[in-house]
Amino acid sequence: MDLGIRGKRALVCASSKGLGRGCAEALAEAGVDLVMNARGAEALEAAAVEIRARHQVNVVTVAGDITSEAGRAAVLAHGPFDILVTNAGGPPPGLWSDWSREDFIKALDANMLTPIALMQAVLPGMITKGWGRVVNITSVSVKAPVPVLGLSNSARAGLTGFVAGTSRQVAGKGVTINNLLPGIHATDRAIALDGAVVKARGISMEDAIAERAATIPAGRYGTAAEFGATCAFLCSQHAGFIVGQNVLLDGGATNATL
Ligand code: NAP
Repeated sequence: MDLGIRGKRALVCASSKGLGRGCAEALAEAGVDLVMNARGAEALEAAAVEIRARHQVNVVTVAGDITSEAGRAAVLAHGPFDILVTNAGGPPPGLWSDWSREDFIKALDANMLTPIALMQAVLPGMITKGWGRVVNITSVSVKAPVPVLGLSNSARAGLTGFVAGTSRQVAGKGVTINNLLPGIHATDRAIALDGAVVKARGISMEDAIAERAATIPAGRYGTAAEFGATCAFLCSQHAGFIVGQNVLLDGGATNATL
């Protein structure tokens, strides 16, 4: 299917690896020029080299922390953008009783206020053009809380509320905002979560992965490529009537009718 977005420009945050990388790849495959970001310059450059070679699109790299004001200013200097994919590392796991105010502020900054600041920066330009697509990478924890990820549950719920209201205010200008909610995907983040299980229970990594996979009706972890393809569709011309939705990609793991 032709996604109809060849020649558009996208900012894909936190995209040297994992789900952000999957989104960057799929957008590049659709002919979209990219501004890619991550903190580590080496992996970011390596990703850009591969994407340029594979898809013949323009890729600008901006190394920096997207959760900092300076990091955001550095990527936004490369605008305007037709497409924005927000993403950042997730907060660490822990126990509800242990998190301090500072821990919450850090999580809110990274996973709620950063995507909001990025949307506030790019939406006016999209509205003026009469076309834009925003996809926020959030988490399954928005639909079904993950007890050890209380910081994520909290921050992402706040972002989801902002998107629910804002998406309806910009839809009439040809701009859509939607959220993608990953369940377990085979990325470094999943390895880190499984590593914590290995440490806590003294089991092997293979057993930790097999145990978790067995809780997913699909029987496996998702892939960054599948995730990226869904993101690219939400950014496509065909998705103009999809507004303010929370699209769950979890292999059926969340046991709910809706
Ligand atoms: P990942 O494989 O660890 O990749 C994270 C990417 O983001 C890397 O490119 C990393 O590069 C970059 N990054 C992290 N923090 C950044 C920052 N502050 N500024 C700029 N770039 C940053 O993680 P992932 O699995 O793709 O997860 C992406 C998001 O989805 C996270 O918020 C995660 O919590 C959420 N999520 C993931 C899963 C899953 O199963 N994978 C499930 C639910 C939710 P640098 O380290 O070099 O900056």
